[in-house]
Amino acid sequence: MDNCIFCKIIAGDIPSMRVYEDEDCIAILDINPAAPGHTLVIPKKHYQDLFEMDEAMAGKLMMVAQEIGKRQMERLGAPGVNLVQNNGASAGQTVLHFHLHVIPRYENDGAMVLWDPTQPTMDDLKAICDKLA
Ligand code: AMP
Ligand code: ZN
Repeated sequence: MDNCIFCKIIAGDIPSMRVYEDEDCIAILDINPAAPGHTLVIPKKHYQDLFEMDEAMAGKLMMVAQEIGKRQMERLGAPGVNLVQNNGASAGQTVLHFHLHVIPRYENDGAMVLWDPTQPTMDDLKAICDKLA
């Protein structure tokens, strides 16, 4: 897709650090990593977000994320890994081509990828549960 930075990276028009590639996707180092080794798993086909993607591709990308996470633990010595995937501006998505963040985590690395827990009542939880169930 024109003017999509990840489509340009996939086409080779913009340089990237590719750590993995197959027929469906690439995995590249994030240019502004939360922690050393932060990797993006990106489908070669342009899907804006998770909800444009078919189930088979979503499953495939999760399998690739598993492989990248294993490498981060085994080769970079990360004791933990976060998967983060943003859909929509309110969720923090800035590049409108699906990507799955695979973020290696190190003790006291200070990376800000978790949230501040809130304290809803059981009634609050029940009301949400009734809508989602
Ligand atoms: P998101 O906020 O989930 O849309 O994440 C977009 C991510 O893409 C950010 O973590 C950026 O640092 C990363 N990013 C943007 N441009 C590039 C690039 N040219 N190469 C690698 N990563 C990039
Ligand atoms: Zn694209």
